[in-house]
Amino acid sequence: MFPDYDVIVVGAGHAGCEAAAAAANLGSKVLLVTMNMQTIAQMSCNPAMGGIAKGQIVREIDAMGGYSGIVTDESMIQFRMLNRSKGPAMWSPRAQSDRMMFATKWREMLENTPNVDFYQDMVKGLVIKEGKAEGVITGLGHEIRSKAVVLTNGTFLNGIIHIGEKNFGGGRAAEKAATGITEQLVSLGFESDRLKTGTPPRVDGRSLDYSKMEEQPGDDDMTGFSYTDTVKPKQQRSCWITYTNQQVHDILKTGFDRSPMYAGRIDGVGPRYCPSIEDKISRFAERDRHQLFIEPEGWNTVEIYVNGFSTSLPEDVQYEALRTVPGFENVRIFRPGYAIEYDYFPPTQLRHTLETKLISGLFFAGQINGTTGYEEAACQGLMAGINAHQKVKELAPVILERSQAYIGVLIDDLISKGTEEPYRMFTSRAEYRTLLRQDNADSRLTELSYKLGLASQERMDRVTAKKAEVEQIKALLKEISFEPSEINPFLATLGSSPILEKQKSEKILLRPDVDLPAMITATEKLKSKLDQFSKEAIEQASIQIKYDVYIEKERELVSRMSQLENLEIPESFDYKKIQSLGSEAREKLHRIRPRTLGQASRISGINPSDVQILMVFMGR
Ligand SMILES: Cc1cc2nc3c(=O)[nH]c(=O)nc-3n(C[C@H](O)[C@H](O)[C@H](O)COP(=O)(O)OP(=O)(O)OC[C@H]3O[C@@H](n4cnc5c(N)ncnc54)[C@H](O)[C@@H]3O)c2cc1C
Repeated sequence: MFPDYDVIVVGAGHAGCEAAAAAANLGSKVLLVTMNMQTIAQMSCNPAMGGIAKGQIVREIDAMGGYSGIVTDESMIQFRMLNRSKGPAMWSPRAQSDRMMFATKWREMLENTPNVDFYQDMVKGLVIKEGKAEGVITGLGHEIRSKAVVLTNGTFLNGIIHIGEKNFGGGRAAEKAATGITEQLVSLGFESDRLKTGTPPRVDGRSLDYSKMEEQPGDDDMTGFSYTDTVKPKQQRSCWITYTNQQVHDILKTGFDRSPMYAGRIDGVGPRYCPSIEDKISRFAERDRHQLFIEPEGWNTVEIYVNGFSTSLPEDVQYEALRTVPGFENVRIFRPGYAIEYDYFPPTQLRHTLETKLISGLFFAGQINGTTGYEEAACQGLMAGINAHQKVKELAPVILERSQAYIGVLIDDLISKGTEEPYRMFTSRAEYRTLLRQDNADSRLTELSYKLGLASQERMDRVTAKKAEVEQIKALLKEISFEPSEINPFLATLGSSPILEKQKSEKILLRPDVDLPAMITATEKLKSKLDQFSKEAIEQASIQIKYDVYIEKERELVSRMSQLENLEIPESFDYKKIQSLGSEAREKLHRIRPRTLGQASRISGINPSDVQILMVFMGR
C-alpha cells in the first residue's frame, strides 16, 4: 500500500509541516503521518506568530525558503512591529492570525508541494535496524519504510491534561495522546523527562464589554514576515487590554487547594517566562494587577483568546475569577483553560543537525526537544527537514552558526546546554544581536538556502537586487551634502541642533533623531535621487549607516570567536583520558561530544581553563 520514502515526518504541527516542506522542496520523497489531518498546523495556544526574538526567527525561516512567514502574512488579522521605540536590532514583527485560516493555508501549501504524501494515523513505534531508523509502525498496523524519520510529536507523547482535580490523557484539548514512541526510545537508551505548559480559557466575544478595555489597533504599515509579495489584509482587527485586580486574585486563590500544580499532581516543569495566572499571583504577590490581552481568534468568529490568563484551576474558579475582570462581568466561556504534561527528550542527545546521536537517520524537532512556541518548533522542523534530506542523499549537513541566525543560537543552546524547562527564544540569548536583525534575515540566509536548492531563483534575485540598491543608496548618501540653509529647517522640526557648515547626508543621518524616510520627504535634493528606491532598501541603508560602528564591532567579535568555532574536535576524542579536566567537565564533554571548541566553551559547567586544556590536547 505504501511506497518506500526518503523521509517520513511524524506529526503535522509547526515543526512537522516545515520539515515536510523543506525535505520535499529539496527533492526528497516525503510522507507526513499525522494523527488527525483536520488539525494540520493547529495553533495549540494563542493564534499569534512572532514577537520579540520569535519574529526574527519567522523572518529567518522565510529567508531560508520555509512557509511559516507566508502562511502568517496570508492569515493575519493584525500586524505590529514591536519595540519600534528601540533600535532596529530590537524591532520584532508580531501578527495575530486567523486560527482557522492559518491551518487551512498551511494545508493548502503542503498539498501544493510536490513530493509530499499524507497519511492519517498514529505512529506507535519506529523501525530500527542496526542502529539506523528505517521507517515507522502505525496504530493501524502499517510498517512504512524510509531512509530517515523526523519526529515532531509536540505535546502529544503520553500527554495528560489537567483542569482542577480532573485529569485525562490527551495531546491537546479534544485530541488523543500518543503512546508507544517514548517507551521504545527509552528501551533503546534514550533519556526522556516531563515538561508542562498551559493555556487560557477561550470566551465568547459577544459577552464582553469592550468599553471597559483599552483598544490596541494594528500598525498602519503592515510589513509582514515574508520577503516575497504576500497578500496582506486591507483591514485589521483590534486587540484589547484589560487587567486583573485584587478581587480576581482572591477568587483564584480559593481554588489553589484544588489546583493540579499546588496539589502536586503535575511533575513536569512549566515555562518560566509564560507563567499561569496562578503562578503570577503567587510569584509576584506584591502586584495588585496583571495585564490581559484580549485577542480575537479570527475574522469570522466571536471566539476570544484571553492572553495572560493561562490556568489549570477548576472551571468554576476560572469562571468566577474571570467575571470580576473589567469587561468580563457577563462572560461566557467556550473552552476552559488547562495544563498539559508531556514527555520530551533532553536535546543534548542530538547533533547540530538535529539527528539523534544514538540512532542514525532519526531526527527530532519542535516541542519534543523541550522548546515551547510555534516559531521555535517551526525553525527546528525546517533544519531537521533539510538535514534529513541531506543525510539520505549523502550530502553535507547544514548547520547555521550562532553568528548567522537566531536559529543557529537556538539549536546550539539546545544541544550544548540542554534545557530543564520549556525553552523559548529571547534576544538576550544571542551574542550578536546587532547582526541578527529581522530586517536583514534575507541577506544573511537566502544565498545559503538558494545554493542548497531551497530558496527559489526569484527570492535570490530579490536579495541581489536589494543589496545592489542598498549600496547605491549608501553611495549617494556619502556623495550628497547639505548647506545649513538647506537642512536646518528640517532639523528644527525635529528639535535637532542646526549644522553650522556644509555636511554630508550620511553624517546628518547618524543623529539618533534623524530618520532617512523623513529626511527624503523633507528635502528635494534627496527626494530627486532616492525616490526611485524601494522602502526596504532605504530602511536597510539607513540601519547600516546608523549602526555601522556596532555592526563592525560584532563582526570583529565573530571573527575572533571563529578561531574557537573553527577548531573541530574529532568525534572519537577521548575526554576520559584527560585527567587534568575535572570529573564534571569530563563527564559532560563525553556525553555531549561538542563539535567544536566554541561549542565546548558554551556547555554549562565547562570553564575557560577546561577549554585551554582541550586546546593543549588538540595540539594548539
Ligand atoms: C495547552 C498548550 C499550551 C501551550 N502554551 C504555549 C504558550 O503559552 N506559549 C508558547 O509559545 N507555546 C505554547 N504552546 C506550545 C506550542 O503549541 C508548541 O510549542 C508548538 O505547537 C509545538 O509545535 P510542534 O510542531 O513541536 O508540535 P505540535 O504543534 O504539538 O504538533 C504535534 C503534531 O504531531 C502529531 N502527532 C503527535 N504524535 C503523533 C504520533 N505518534 N503519530 C502521528 N502524529 C502525531 C499531532 O497530532 C500534532 O499534529 C502550548 C501548547 C499547548 C498544547
